[in-house]
Amino acid sequence: MNRGPVAEINLSALQHNLDIVKRIVEKRHIIAVVKADAYGHGSVEISRKLLQGGVSYLAVAYTEEARVIRDSGIKARILVLFDRTDITDFFKYDLIPVIHDVKTASEFSKEAVRSGKKIQVHLKIDTGMGRLGTNPEKAVSDAIEISGMKGIELEGILSHFSEADLSDRTFALRQLEIFNKTGKSISEKLSRQLISHMANSAGILSLKEALFDAVRPGLMLYGYSPFSESYGLKPLMKIKTRVLVIRNLPAGHPVSYGRTFVTKRESRIAVIPVGYADGYNRLFSNNSDVLIRGMRVPVVGRVCMDLTMIDVTDVNDVSEGDEVVLLGHQGNEMISAHELSSRINTIPYEIITSLGSRSRKEYIH
Ligand SMILES: *Cc1c(COP(=O)(O)O)cnc(C)c1O
Repeated sequence: MNRGPVAEINLSALQHNLDIVKRIVEKRHIIAVVKADAYGHGSVEISRKLLQGGVSYLAVAYTEEARVIRDSGIKARILVLFDRTDITDFFKYDLIPVIHDVKTASEFSKEAVRSGKKIQVHLKIDTGMGRLGTNPEKAVSDAIEISGMKGIELEGILSHFSEADLSDRTFALRQLEIFNKTGKSISEKLSRQLISHMANSAGILSLKEALFDAVRPGLMLYGYSPFSESYGLKPLMKIKTRVLVIRNLPAGHPVSYGRTFVTKRESRIAVIPVGYADGYNRLFSNNSDVLIRGMRVPVVGRVCMDLTMIDVTDVNDVSEGDEVVLLGHQGNEMISAHELSSRINTIPYEIITSLGSRSRKEYIH
């Protein structure tokens, strides 16, 4: 296929970002979060590189994502953060479920007994996110009950921050305190240490006390910080395409659906084969720039399903087939996921997952 966007993924930037995580967390385990196809970067290639770099676990959202990684021959430990529907798959693919209640644990125990296998599980505690996890008041008794179940080894406990990326840390610190206290009681009652983990990228970068025994970086591995400071992280992903057609339009000529843009002068309009079906959000209509021949030019008119128009009147010598960069560097210019996300009131996570997952990938080593 020779159309649509290409995601160029720089694996040495991944190593660089992993080194930054390692410098902060020292000898602690790293549970690399590769859910959503490694935030659109391709979970198999990314997982391989991260495992070579020394991460201890991978984490995905669903067993289906874990299966893709296993099918590529990767043997590493894989934590499944959210799924709990296909219990037999956890045994089949040797996965570690994150569980939130005694009932699910007993279903895993039943299957462990039936299949004659053992399974390690991590118990999630809701310290304030209000999403998944057992309540802190029940966590200690749940942990005791779960560790007593046949075929189950409670290996770890975890929690998740709801706002470690805000400048006001009050709530994050309260969550941290609850997790600390609950974790201590669980270890005391069970008379053994469990692997505790809580920190996402924001926690790793901003809360030393949240590092515990293991950390769960996602975004920062892909080169973006959840804060305005970059911390020296390097984005991996560049999204590029090529000019499909160049049009010369007279002044006063409308461009694209709804005539939301009308040329003010005689214009050269380049058509690029990328649209919202490729993850280039329709809200970028008349509201973004792209790079061509090292210069910034505006998106004009509505972004279509498969096509977008850009105004290249001010750029010399543009030809059909020229490279156009939608995200990343070209020459001295750069468009970051922060820039794109702030234009459409979202977060860099959404920009990289939507553009990455729909693009053909090229890995640079
Ligand atoms: C996605 C996710 C992470 C990683 O978060 P980042 O902000 O990308 O670092 C960590 N833990 C859980 C439970 C997650 O769902």
